[in-house]
Amino acid sequence: MAEADIALIGLAVMGQNIILNMNDHGFVVCAFNRTVSKVDEFLANEAKGTKVIGAHSLKEMVCKLKKPRRIMMLVKAGQAVDEFINSLVPLLSPGDIIIDGGNSEYGDSTRRCKELKAKGIRFVGSGVSGGEDGARYGPSLMPGGDIEAWPYIRGIFQSIAAKVENEPCCDWVGEEGSGHFVKMVHNGIEYGDMQLICEAYHLLKDIVGMDQDEMAKTFEEWNKTELDSFLIEITADILKFRDTDGKHLLPKIQDTAGQKGTGKWTAITALDFGVPVTLIGEAVFARCLSSLKTERVVASKQLQGPKQVKFTGDKKAFVEDVRKALYASKIISYAQGFILFRQAAKEFGWKLNYGGIAMMWRGGCIIRSVFLGKIKEAFDRNPELQNLLLDDFFKKQMDNCQESWRRAVSAGVQHGIPMPCFTTALSFYDGYRHEMLPANLIQAQRDYFGAHTYELLTKPGHHVHTNWTGHG
Ligand code: NAP
Repeated sequence: MAEADIALIGLAVMGQNIILNMNDHGFVVCAFNRTVSKVDEFLANEAKGTKVIGAHSLKEMVCKLKKPRRIMMLVKAGQAVDEFINSLVPLLSPGDIIIDGGNSEYGDSTRRCKELKAKGIRFVGSGVSGGEDGARYGPSLMPGGDIEAWPYIRGIFQSIAAKVENEPCCDWVGEEGSGHFVKMVHNGIEYGDMQLICEAYHLLKDIVGMDQDEMAKTFEEWNKTELDSFLIEITADILKFRDTDGKHLLPKIQDTAGQKGTGKWTAITALDFGVPVTLIGEAVFARCLSSLKTERVVASKQLQGPKQVKFTGDKKAFVEDVRKALYASKIISYAQGFILFRQAAKEFGWKLNYGGIAMMWRGGCIIRSVFLGKIKEAFDRNPELQNLLLDDFFKKQMDNCQESWRRAVSAGVQHGIPMPCFTTALSFYDGYRHEMLPANLIQAQRDYFGAHTYELLTKPGHHVHTNWTGHG
């Protein structure tokens, strides 16, 4: 009997929690898993007393679904997704919907969307963020693909998503693999936000010698400003946290950061598209450098930094400089992320919902912050906004922060503190606001050694070559 509103394949952490979330919102979910025994285990334990039903085969699952059928997968990205799609297609009817909520590569989602469209099946690739807790109580959801599916899944998606000021952190992103593209960039931005906070922590610790509790208080204060966000909040908690011996835990933790590669993909895509998403790139490389621990230990005993510099300025003023440096750099990071979206839209012919993307990240995910509301407002004011930095609000923020930002970065450089993301953000800002960059010299050099030609400012589009040595 067709009784279920949606089927969910994949009963690991994410799948189980999304099912329970859907159930809380009044939807009847039919659960399925490759290892079928997990269906009964789930029904007898976590899903006991709910309206969740189960199926022991894909055929049984499909029969239990209302039409058009909605099937969401939360399985390991890659081959497992293709295998399920291949098994499902013969069981489905035109107009049925397959949603992939795993961390799939956006190119795979574009391919699946096209292949399934040709078979009359509507495909949605949805970014899902927020981990286990988000899945259970309100994730950030970023669906994209076949827009004909949206009216049929919107009700479910927007009711289970996180809410900020009663607005769901879920909207339609755009065509094909755009939902997974946005999730990829989200992960890259997460790398950037985390590294920026680390650089602020390093400056406070090593320049003005703040102790852990002082820093925790500072981050708590910062969380009441424009920086109000999940990552600033948890940083304060981490700084405060004491181990069982009564000592702070953070200084005891190994200073090497791992990565699963999601930030790397954003940087690679930016390089492929030729757009300057420098901050995420630096955040990825900062993790790589951190992992060279053994080499760093050797180098620390051999390579000199600046001679002992003592901070003599106003501590309170410096802390405010660092806060503004963090805020300005964060604006640059998001501006760069949106440059990448614009380029993807151009490359793939997507029409992306820029303001909606900012909304989707406002809650339910690691990068959630109040500041994302300001990005949404900027795109509401001008949906065609070329660059976030050109919006009046953000222009003012940059202007208000820049003196502090420059002072914080200068102090860091003088004290020999590595700040790859603060500095790349500032260089981007200065590069972007320069009408004339020194790339004219690159053009001349290329023409000199390789006869690559150059264009004159007065004659754009007209390529000329000069015999720079005067030799024939
Ligand atoms: P997972 O460990 O990534 O995957 C386990 C699930 O995939 C199980 O249902 C497993 O079935 C199934 N599976 C694995 N290989 C398979 C294959 N070859 N054929 C068919 N099924 C296969 O689970 P997860 O952590 O819940 O994540 C689910 C998806 O959401 C992933 O794409 C993940 O990247 C993404 N995601 C995870 C998080 C998170 O915080 N965990 C957050 C956002 C997105 P069996 O039980 O039969 O092994």
